[in-house]
Amino acid sequence: MLKKTIAAALACALLAGAASCSTQPAGNGGGTSNQGGAHPPQSNQNPQKEELEEALGMDLSEYEYVDIAHLQEADMPADPALQLPQSDFFGRIGMEGGLHNLEVISYCVHTGTHMDAPYHVIEEAGGVDTVDPTILIGPACVIRLDVIGSYGITVDDVKAWEEEHGEIQPGEAVLFDTKQDSLWKEDPQEYITNYPYLLPETAQYLVDQGVRYVGCEAISPDTDTTESHKILLGNGVGVVENVCNLSDIPVDRCYTIGTFPNSQGSTGVWVRILAFYR
Ligand SMILES: [Zn+2]
Repeated sequence: MLKKTIAAALACALLAGAASCSTQPAGNGGGTSNQGGAHPPQSNQNPQKEELEEALGMDLSEYEYVDIAHLQEADMPADPALQLPQSDFFGRIGMEGGLHNLEVISYCVHTGTHMDAPYHVIEEAGGVDTVDPTILIGPACVIRLDVIGSYGITVDDVKAWEEEHGEIQPGEAVLFDTKQDSLWKEDPQEYITNYPYLLPETAQYLVDQGVRYVGCEAISPDTDTTESHKILLGNGVGVVENVCNLSDIPVDRCYTIGTFPNSQGSTGVWVRILAFYR
């Protein structure tokens, strides 16, 4: 119940500054909005989507979005210890009377754009199935730092952003736009070797601010320890690695929508996250 209330509050936060948030449907300016609480006009759109928008007071058609998740493919920058996605087809249409194309995809869940579960670094903690499925849905700050390569992000870096853009609010996510993403295709070896990470005190500061999740343009928020992972994940803050395209988000606060398969006991999971703005 509490989680549902929070989700509704976060939906309201999206509208803050763009439109007033009330129980009225959004979109008085057009789109698929309705008048006076009547049902929206019939359309070919999925009625569930319309109902959802009405319930949340959102009309997603009024927003632009940036896809901040990479294409998951067989050739991606990854720690050599991890297995990249491998697709093995065991059925083909027309082969031996087959009606379907069928494959088994095997991969390490810590490749590509993915979210870590607490169990990844904390032995007694829970897997992906214990993570709130709405954790990736809500407002997000985009902290831009021109710090490509090996650099420990400091508390002062975060505070400097806050001075300019306002304090990080409890329930907001933080996406670090560090330009490291430019190396993803350009120099994969450099991407996985020298990257911006979070100093443990910065991770703790984000916990203290009540951050929902942290997204980094790197394989990890740590280098040779798991300290920042433990501080974040141990305090219920999500960790999303290898996010991308953050420099394409033209605003300093956006609203991310994403979720993930509910896989039992998994240490991580691929995620697809969209950053909405207007
Ligand atoms: Zn991971």
